[in-house]
Amino acid sequence: GLTEKLSNAFKKLRGKGRLSEADVKEAMREIRLALLEADVSFKVVKDFIARVTERAVGADVLESLTPAQMIVKIVNEELTALMGGDSVKLNLSSRPPTVVMVVGLNGAGKTTNCAKLAGFMKKQNGKRPLLAACDTFRPAAIHQLEVVGEQLGIPVFQMGQSDPVDIAKSAIEHAKKHGNDLVFLDTAGRLHVDEELMEQLKVMKAAVDPDEILLVVDAMIGQDAVNAAKAFDEALDITGVMLTKLDGDARGGAALSIKAVTGKPIKFVGVGEKLDQVEVFHPDRMSSRILGMGDVLSLIEKAQQNFDLKKAAELQEKMKKNRLTLTDFYDQLVQFKGMGSMQDLAGMLPGVDAKALEGADLDKNALGKTEAIILSMTPEERENPALLNSSRKKRIAAGSGTQVVDVNRLLKQFEMMQQMTRQMAGMSGGKMARKMAR
Ligand code: GDP
Ligand code: MG
Repeated sequence: GLTEKLSNAFKKLRGKGRLSEADVKEAMREIRLALLEADVSFKVVKDFIARVTERAVGADVLESLTPAQMIVKIVNEELTALMGGDSVKLNLSSRPPTVVMVVGLNGAGKTTNCAKLAGFMKKQNGKRPLLAACDTFRPAAIHQLEVVGEQLGIPVFQMGQSDPVDIAKSAIEHAKKHGNDLVFLDTAGRLHVDEELMEQLKVMKAAVDPDEILLVVDAMIGQDAVNAAKAFDEALDITGVMLTKLDGDARGGAALSIKAVTGKPIKFVGVGEKLDQVEVFHPDRMSSRILGMGDVLSLIEKAQQNFDLKKAAELQEKMKKNRLTLTDFYDQLVQFKGMGSMQDLAGMLPGVDAKALEGADLDKNALGKTEAIILSMTPEERENPALLNSSRKKRIAAGSGTQVVDVNRLLKQFEMMQQMTRQMAGMSGGKMARKMAR
C-alpha cells in the first residue's frame, strides 16, 4: 500500500549524512509513483511534489534531524496541509435546529453515517438530534434508518413515500416542536451522478436552506470518490465531506485529493460498520497514518471521547483531594470498558505498568464480580478503602460470593485506576503524546 511504498522511499534516504540532488530526485520519483498508485489525482500529485521538492532543496536541515528525517518531516507537513491542515467542525446554526443535508451516491454510507454522526453529536455535544427519512427512492431506506435510529436511541421522522422536500420541511417543523436542535436529512442517492438526482437535491436545498450539506463518499472507490465530490460540489456547493470505509483497504487517494480538488474539507470519517465507528477527521493524524507513524493520537482521542467529560471533571476534583472512592472506581471500570483494551490504554500512560493489568479482565463477569464486591462494602469502606483490614475483607468476600484474593485484586486495580485517572485527567493529549514518543 501507500504507507509501505512511502516508507520504502524514505528508507533509501536513511543513513545518508547528506542528500545529493539525485537522492532527493529519486525519492520524489518514488513518492510521486506511490501517490499516483494510491489514486491521488494527477494534478494534486504534481503540485505536491513541486512543493516538497522546493522545500527540500531550500531547507536548512535542522540540527536534530538527519536530512532523510527532514524530508519525512516536510512530506508529513505537506500531506497535512493538502488535507486542509486543521480539523473542521460541523456548522452549527445560531438559531436551532441546525439542518444537515446528507447527500451522496448509493452505498456511500449516507444512512448509516448520518445516524453515526447523530449519535456522535448526541454523546459528544449533548445535542438532541432527529433523523429524517427523506430517501423515498429505495423502499427499504426508511426502515433502515429506523433500525439504526432505534439502536442509538435517536428519534426518526418519516412520512412514508411522500415528497422528499415535504418530508424535509415537516421534519424541521417537527424538530422545532419537539426540541430537537439538530436535524439530519438522509436523502436518496443514485448509482452514478445524474441530473435527476442533482435537480432533486437542489430543490431540497432551496426549500430548507441547510446549515450544512455533508457529502458522504466511499474511500474505497478512490478516484471515483473525488469525481463524485467534484460533481456534487459543483451542483450543490457542499460544505463538507464525510469519508467512509476508511477501515477497508482504501488506497488513501480520496482522503488526499478531496480538499485539493473541491476546496471543501473532510470533516468526519467512517471507520467501520458499527454505529460508534465515526471520527473527526484530523489531517495531521491521517498524514501520520499514511506515513506509517502510527495512530496513537487517534487512540488517545478515543479514550477521551469515551470518558464522560463531566464525570471526568468531578473525578479530577476528587483526585486533587485524594477522595476517589470505590464507587467512582466502579463507574470508571464501566467507562474504560468502552474504550477497548485496557492494557493498550495503560501502556500509553507514563508510569503505569501495563503488565500489572494483565489479569484485569474487563468482561461482563469480572465487572459483575467487581460490582458484587463493591456492593458488599459499607458506604464508609467505599469512601475509604484504607479501612479494609483482613477481617473486613473476609466479610466482604463472603458477602459477595468471592474470595479474599478477588477483593485484593480489586483493590490493586483500584490503585492502578487512581493512577491512570490522575494522569489522564491532568494531561493534555499533546503532552501525553510527547511523553509516549520518547
Ligand atoms: P447509503 O446507500 O449511502 O445510505 O449507504 P448505507 O448507509 O446504506 O451504507 C452502505 C453500506 O456501507 C452498509 O453496509 C454499511 O454498513 C457500510 N458502511 C457504511 N459506513 C461504513 C464504514 O465506515 N466502514 C465500513 N466498513 N462499512 C461502512
Ligand atoms: Mg441510504
